[in-house]
Amino acid sequence: MRIVLLGAPGSGKGTQSQRLVQKLGIPQISSGDLLRAALARGTPLGLQAKAAMDAGRLVDDSIVLGMIRERLSEPDARAGFILDGFPRNLAQAQALKEMLTSLGQPLDAVVQLEVDYRELVPRISGRRSCADCGRVCNVLTAAQACDPAEPCPKTGKPHRLVQRPDDNEATVTERLRVYDEQTRPLVEYYRSRGLLRSIDAQGDPDEVTRRLTAALSPARSLG
Ligand SMILES: [Zn+2]
Repeated sequence: MRIVLLGAPGSGKGTQSQRLVQKLGIPQISSGDLLRAALARGTPLGLQAKAAMDAGRLVDDSIVLGMIRERLSEPDARAGFILDGFPRNLAQAQALKEMLTSLGQPLDAVVQLEVDYRELVPRISGRRSCADCGRVCNVLTAAQACDPAEPCPKTGKPHRLVQRPDDNEATVTERLRVYDEQTRPLVEYYRSRGLLRSIDAQGDPDEVTRRLTAALSPARSLG
């Protein structure tokens, strides 16, 4: 099953992607993770991305698409994938469509995680993740509260919680503005192609996972 998860920063995309990975047994493909991995390994695309970043430019869509294409050719992606954080704008959506069509792997569904914007700032600026195991929790909201007593499965000690640099409150507003302007138009783009399913992404993460799974089940039965 080939899925795109669409949602504003703080809508729980990352968390729900991880849960779908476990439920469906297909990999999560995050353009940010791919970029970081390519930079770390110094692959040809990684070197191109580094040159752009060193020059203070944005990394071209073509480089990101190249990384996604490479990732999709790995064996674990044959059964499907969950795209998280890509596409972010209409040009990327169009390029993704062309690439997936040429690979014979068209999308099965795009799920929009709907949240109230007023809830997003605490959801994002309270977000922490463990530097050792990657577990995500929140120090400001009751849903997914960080549990200081919980041992880290990697180290056996308490989780080592860190905040992503772009999760601080000053940048959150700007990220939401960019999302509204660039990414939100994808909702209509995918709706008009019959791929869109929207779910309420507020409240208990387990409940959101149930809604997400239910939203995907018609696509699953189709293949
Ligand atoms: Zn941990």
